[in-house]
This record gives sequence, structure tokens and C-alpha cells, in this order.
Amino acid sequence: MCYIWKNPTHPEHEISLRDLERLPGGFDHLNITGGEPTLRADLEEMCLLLRPKASVLEISTNGLHPEKLVRVLRRDPTVKIRISVEGFESLNDSIRGEQGGFARKLESMRRLIEAGGQDLGFATTFQDENVEDLVRLFALSREMGVEFATSALHNGFQFHKNDNGLYDRRLVARKVEELIERMLSTWEVKNWFRAYLNLGLIAKVLGHPRLIPCTAATDFIFVDPWCDVYACNVRNDLLMGNLRTTPWEEIVRGKRARAIRSEVAACVQNCWMVASAKTAMRMKSNARLPKPGVLGWVLANKARSMAGLRVPFHRYVNTAAPAPDDRGDRRRSYLGVREKRLVQGAESRRYTQFSGFFNR
Ligand code: SF4
Repeated sequence: MCYIWKNPTHPEHEISLRDLERLPGGFDHLNITGGEPTLRADLEEMCLLLRPKASVLEISTNGLHPEKLVRVLRRDPTVKIRISVEGFESLNDSIRGEQGGFARKLESMRRLIEAGGQDLGFATTFQDENVEDLVRLFALSREMGVEFATSALHNGFQFHKNDNGLYDRRLVARKVEELIERMLSTWEVKNWFRAYLNLGLIAKVLGHPRLIPCTAATDFIFVDPWCDVYACNVRNDLLMGNLRTTPWEEIVRGKRARAIRSEVAACVQNCWMVASAKTAMRMKSNARLPKPGVLGWVLANKARSMAGLRVPFHRYVNTAAPAPDDRGDRRRSYLGVREKRLVQGAESRRYTQFSGFFNR
């Protein structure tokens, strides 16, 4: 899914605590993601520094170094932690290239629960190989009393990847429909909104336009390991400035930021990742509240679920006809294949796939 591991950063070049101090306060959500955040020696200090700057501070992790995460939670149990898991047992281990990864993640989650973590969960990137496990992973999360977040395969310069794709998109969409029905059947409000987020993932999987336009550079941004600030982690051309050298006000309100917002408004990538989906689903005036259309969908389909009726998916997404894909439907599973077929993009100093091959 991601070749960051093949292109590691040098710790001495990476964003420092001093750089992060330049971020203003008042964020709704900050996510420390990877690579792998627990590889940072100063993760605890980073959390102490960033926590006051956001209502929610999240760490997205492989969960293989629980001792570091436990130390973070002992200082502040409100830090949100999501452990990536891609399936049960050997399936997780094959997709992620981990040895005994599934068992270690389960053990890590138990340790984080014991440490008093208040917002814990698993996160799964669904793909052809693991869609059969989605509902069971959701059930496992509920049994453990933790959350279950999902994403779909995406390509992007940050991942050094442009060959991620699904090869039986209709089947994947049907399996995600099952997960949506299951989420709506619970009595946890968060799951109902996650059901909507997964509806957006069906649109992504089938190659259809987003349910709600993207608001990159307005409601979310991506800061890379060298302090470069991009509108998102997919398009390399949406560079807004550098945290070390560009004043924050200029990054977010300058001429370049305005031009980039116009690019975003016309973007046809149709990503639907957690940041780009959640921000789109929420009100501008109050990021804690859903947009009326999202709320309406949730209420209508929770009511249907209670009445024993299925979600009429075709009303929201054209489930009958995936958009044409020049290679997705011809692909076969790459599980166990070490090298996929990357389309050679122009390399930059830091990213191996840095040109516009991402619209897949
Ligand atoms: S839809 Fe476009 S602007 Fe939005 S996250 Fe994807 S590539 Fe970035």
C-alpha cells in the first residue's frame, strides 16, 4: 500500500519540536502519522507540545511499539490512538509485511486499554484481499471496546505509490455495504457517521465523484517531514510553503494559498481519506457538528435500519456501474508479490513518485 518504509527519512533532517512550535493553536484535530510515529525518539515531547494546540491529538501507528504509546497515554490518556490492522492473523501479516503483527497489535491494544487510553481504535485500509474480514474486524473492535476506522487504497506522493488499485471493485463495494449496515445497526452515534464515511469510500472505490467536495488547504493541510506544507498528501503540486521559512499567516492566507484553493476546487482525484472526508462532512461554523445533508442521511438510514430495511445505496452512489478504470479491473492480487508495477513518475529529491500519476 505504501513505500515510505523503502524511502526512510534521516532523523537529522526531520521536522523538529522547534519547527512544530511554529504551528498555531486552535486546531480541531492534529494527526501524527507516518511512516511510523513511534520511531521518533521524541514522540512523548511531541505530544506534550502539540496536545494544547488541538481539541484532538491523534497518533496513527502500526502498534508494534506499545511501550512508547503507553508512556504517551500515562501522561495524557486523551491522546487518540489508531492501530493499523489489515485483517486477521496471516492476512494482516502478508499485507503489511509484519511477522506476528496481528497478535502483537492485539496485545498492544490490551496494553493501551490497561494504560487508560480514552480514545483507542483499529484502522483498516480495505482492499480486495481483506474485504471479507471487514465485518469481523468491526466486531473484534466492538468486543474490545475500541473504535474501528476505515480507509480505501489511495495513491499519493507521500506514499511513494501510484499503483494502488482494486481489481474487483463491485465485490469490494458490496462488502463495504455490509459494514455500513452493521454500523447503522449499533447504538453508537459515532458508528452511524462512520457509516456515511464508508458510503463515501464506496464512491471512491467505484471511481465516482466525492459525495461532498474536497476542502484541502481550507479545512486541512499536510506537513511533511521536511516542514513542507501541502494542501494534501496526494498532489505534489499543491505546495503552500515551508513551516521553517514561511510565516504561518502567509502559508494559509497568502496569494499562493488562494491559488491552491482554486486548484483544489477543480481537483478530480476524488480522494476520500479520513482527513478529506471528515472535514467535508462537518459544518464550517462548528467543526464538531455534521453538515445537514450528512445528518439527514444518518437519520434516514438509521430509521431504515431500525425498521429492518436496507440502505438504498443506489440512491446515493451509482453502484451498478463503476467508472471506467484503465487497469484496476484487470489487476490480480499482489499479495506475496514483493514488487508491484509502479508507473515511473518523475523523482524529486525526496519523493520517488512525484508526478501526476495519481488519478487511479
Ligand atoms: S481530492 Fe484533490 S485536493 Fe483533495 S485530497 Fe485528493 S488530491 Fe488533494
